Parts: sequence; C-alpha cells; structure tokens
Amino acid sequence: MTIFDTSDRFRRSLLQGEEQAREEMTRAYGIAWSGIREELDRLTEQIQAALDSGLTVDTSYLLQRQRLQRLERVVIAQLQPWAAVATDTLTGQQRAMLRLGVRHAVGLLHVSEPSISLSFAQINAGALREMVGFAADGSPLRELLQSTTRFAADRVVDSLIRSVAVGLSPRQTAERIRDSLAAPLSRAQTLARTEMLRAYREATRQTYLANSDVVEGWVWHASLDARTCVACLAQHGSAHALDEPMQSHPNCRCAMLPQTPSWSSLGLAGLQEREPVATGEAWLRLQSAATQRRALGPRWDAWRRGELRLYEMTREVADRRWGTYRVERSLTELRLR
Ligand SMILES: [Zn+2]
Repeated sequence: MTIFDTSDRFRRSLLQGEEQAREEMTRAYGIAWSGIREELDRLTEQIQAALDSGLTVDTSYLLQRQRLQRLERVVIAQLQPWAAVATDTLTGQQRAMLRLGVRHAVGLLHVSEPSISLSFAQINAGALREMVGFAADGSPLRELLQSTTRFAADRVVDSLIRSVAVGLSPRQTAERIRDSLAAPLSRAQTLARTEMLRAYREATRQTYLANSDVVEGWVWHASLDARTCVACLAQHGSAHALDEPMQSHPNCRCAMLPQTPSWSSLGLAGLQEREPVATGEAWLRLQSAATQRRALGPRWDAWRRGELRLYEMTREVADRRWGTYRVERSLTELRLR
C-alpha cells in the first residue's frame, strides 16, 4: 500500500463516518487549536514586550495576530461538531476565482514554501485531513518515523499536523521536529517539506476533484529556478487527469495548477484565452546558454544538439511505499561519464 492509498482509505473512512477516523480528525483539530493558542500567546508576549520597552509594534505582528485569532475561531467551530465534508466545498469567492481560470488561483493554491503561511487566511482543512491520513497507523510515513525515532513518532506527527493547521513553513517545522527526530536539520527539512507539501498537494487535488465542473485536470508546475531538478523540469507543463496524484521525489517544490475551461467554453466571447503552460523543454530553450548549462551540466551539449531530450534524462522509480515518481538518471546511466 503506497502512502497515497493510505490517505485514500482514510478519506473514505471519514466519508463513511467511521468512528475512528472521526476521532483522529477531532484529535487533529485539538492539536491545531493548542498550536494556534501557543502561537497566539507567543505573539502576544512579543507584542507586549515591544510595547513595554516603548517600541512601536510592526503591523505585520498585528496582522499575524488577527490571522491566528481568526484561525482559532475557525478551529473551534470545526471542533464542535466536526464536519469534514462541508469544509471541502469551496467558498463562493474561491469558486469564482477558479471559474475565471485565474492564473492567480495559483496564489491561493500554490504550495511554494514562503507563501504557505500567507495564502491561507482560512485553516486548510483539506491539508489537515491529508496529513492525518498520510500519518495513519500502518502508513509508510508512520512506519518510517517509528523506525527512525522509536518513541517520538507521535510527537513528530503532531508537529506536522500542527504546522499545517497554523500555516508554518516547512523550514519552521523542521526546527521544531529536529529534536524529536534526533536527526540533522537537513533531514528534518526534507521530511517536513516532503510531507507537508504532499498533504497540501493532495488537498489541492481533492479540491479540484470536488470542483470538476470548473477544473478539468491539473498541470505540473516546477519552480523554474536554479534549484529545479531535471526530473521536475522535464515534467513542467505536462497535463494530468484529476484522479492522478502528483507523485514526486523528496524535497520536490513543484505545484499543481488547475486546468480550467477556456473562456469561450464558459460562454464568454472576445476574451483572450490563457496560454497553456509551456513545457520545461520549451522554457529551457528560451534561456541563456549559461542558464542551460547550469541546469544540465554535462548533459547540455547532447541536449543542445537535439540528441537527448529532458524526458530521456529521467527515469521512473516505482516504490511500494512512496508511489511512482521520476528522478534524474545518473551521468553514468546516460553514458556521459
Ligand atoms: Zn519537483
């Protein structure tokens, strides 16, 4: 059973109203609530300390506090009585955005690291549910944690749940789980980023599925910067069906963009249609030779001559726990070394 099967099963149990799944979600909301409380207390202390020493308080603190207070109200409302199905439905405004096919639904749904905490004025109930599902008993994540941390697996899972609820970044989360993990910070960061982004992505896909009248599929969107790996670059711009989860390598920062109907099919004439996302291959061709070389290293020459395409630089990994995803082929495999 892959990690995606685990969350599918959890989601089904919730829909069927199974007692245990509901209890786990209620517990997760409890963790969320105490996490929000703690953040609020911490922030209030900081604000008070600043006031006491005669400093002006940065508005970002006040906004942050407002956001947490709002989150707290949401969580409390969620806790009694808890209802997952209702939170899956988008608000009218979110639906309208999707309907417009706004690229900026990206702003709303994109999971790139720095924006997580800012994007969700609402608690991301879907991501919270996915995180609980991914970490359910017997899941690959739970087993991995139990094998590495022995006694602290529960603590790490609770931290992940809390981070998703409060809207912490994977980096902030890594700081908090590193002691429980007894691992170097880099490993904690990989774990936090991989697990949190998986939860956000699956929640995104579930949202798209719930709105399949206006979302037809999803498009792989890589961050297209110096750190983007060739495997993700090769998949950038590719179209996927809604029933396909985004399966990627650890540390992947890619996002899923909604594929929305054209303006004309929505009955809106005379508007310029959105351009489809260009492929990673096309994007790279437009870059300077220096950027291309940085991205491809020793593979650049063969690529430039048209002998080796990006996709050919990757291979599939089929893992019975983490799913099927693509990674870069080694230079040796490509006979470039
Ligand atoms: Zn990626």
